[in-house]
Amino acid sequence: MKIAFIGLGIMGARMAANLIRAGHDVVVYNRSQNAGLQDCLNLGAGKASTPAEAARGREVIFSMLSNPAAVEAVAGGEDGLLAGAAQHAGGDRDAKSDPVANAIPAGTPIWVDCSTVDSAFSRRMHGEAQKHSVAFIDAPVAGSKEPAASGELVFLCGGANEDLKRVEELLNVMGKKTVHAGAAGDGSALKMTINLMLGTSIAAYTEAVALGVGLGLSPEVVQNVLLNTPVVAPVLGALRARIDSGDFTPHFPLQHMHKDLRLAVDAGETQGLPMALTASARNLFALALPTGDDGANEHEDFSAVFRVLNPA
Ligand code: NAP
Repeated sequence: MKIAFIGLGIMGARMAANLIRAGHDVVVYNRSQNAGLQDCLNLGAGKASTPAEAARGREVIFSMLSNPAAVEAVAGGEDGLLAGAAQHAGGDRDAKSDPVANAIPAGTPIWVDCSTVDSAFSRRMHGEAQKHSVAFIDAPVAGSKEPAASGELVFLCGGANEDLKRVEELLNVMGKKTVHAGAAGDGSALKMTINLMLGTSIAAYTEAVALGVGLGLSPEVVQNVLLNTPVVAPVLGALRARIDSGDFTPHFPLQHMHKDLRLAVDAGETQGLPMALTASARNLFALALPTGDDGANEHEDFSAVFRVLNPA
C-alpha cells in the first residue's frame, strides 16, 4: 500500500521500519533530521519535506507524535497532512455545509493517529479529518520500544468498523493484536486508562521503597519482597534492571508519562472526578522533569522517576 509515516521518534521509526520491511511503499516525514528518519531512508523509504508532501497521494497516513500540540502542528495548515491528503481525496470540504460529510466513501485517504493523546482531542481531529474528506482512526499503542521493533504492539482503536478493516493488515504488520474500543476517541480513552495505571503504579512503588529505606530497611530487601508479592504490577519487575543499573536510556520518555498523567487528570476533572491519585503521581513525575538549563534528564526513561525519592 502507499503509506505516509509522520513522526520517527523511538516508536514511529521502528513501526515505519516494519512497514517498509513488509514491502509497503512508505514516504516518511520527521520534523528534525534524526536517527529514526535516517534508518527509514536507509531501508528504502521516500523522504518528504513537509507533512503535506508526505500525505499527498497516499492511501494511509500514520502519525506517531509526542502530544496533542505536536499532532495539531503536523495536521493543520497548508503544509499539514490534512491539506496534503485532501488533495488526493478531491479537495477540502466544509463538514458544516456538507450534509454528507459523515459518509466518506471507501478508497478515500485514511489518517491513523497512533500518538497518545486525550480522547476529546482525538474526536476533534476526527472532525478536522472529516472536513478534509479524510477518514480517521485513533490507534494509540500498548507496548514500548522492543515490541515496536519486533512488531508486537497492541493497537487500541477508535473509529468506524469499515475504516479499521482497511488498515488492519498494516496494524498486523506492526502489532500482535488490535482492540476496537468503539467510536473515534475511544482508542485514546482506553490508552489513557492504561497509562494512568502505569504511572500511578511506578509512583506508588517509588514511594513504598523510599518509605522502607527511610525506616531502615535495605533497598534490596524492600524491592525483592515487593516484587514477589501480588500487590505489585508485573511491569515493575521488568523495570528493576533499569533501576538497579541506573541506565535510564529512554524506552518510554519521562516527559511523555508526565504528559499522559496530566491528560488523564484534565480529562477526569471534566467528568467531575477528583483524580487525586493520578494528580499525585503527576506531581511526582513533575519533580523528575528537567528543572534548570542543563536539561539533564530530559531524555530519560520514565522509570527514572524512581530516583526522585531514591537517589543513587
Ligand atoms: P519520541 O521519541 O519523543 O518522538 C516524538 C516524535 O514527535 C518525534 O518524531 C518528534 O520529532 C515529534 N514531534 C514532537 N513535537 C513535534 C512538533 N511540535 N511538530 C512536529 N513533530 C513533533 O516519542 P515516542 O516514544 O516515539 O512516543 C511517541 C508517542 O507514542 C507519544 O505520544 C508517546 O506517549 C506514545 N507512546 C510511547 C511509548 C514508548 O514506550 N516510547 C509507548 C506507547 C506510546 P523530532 O524528532 O523532530 O523531535
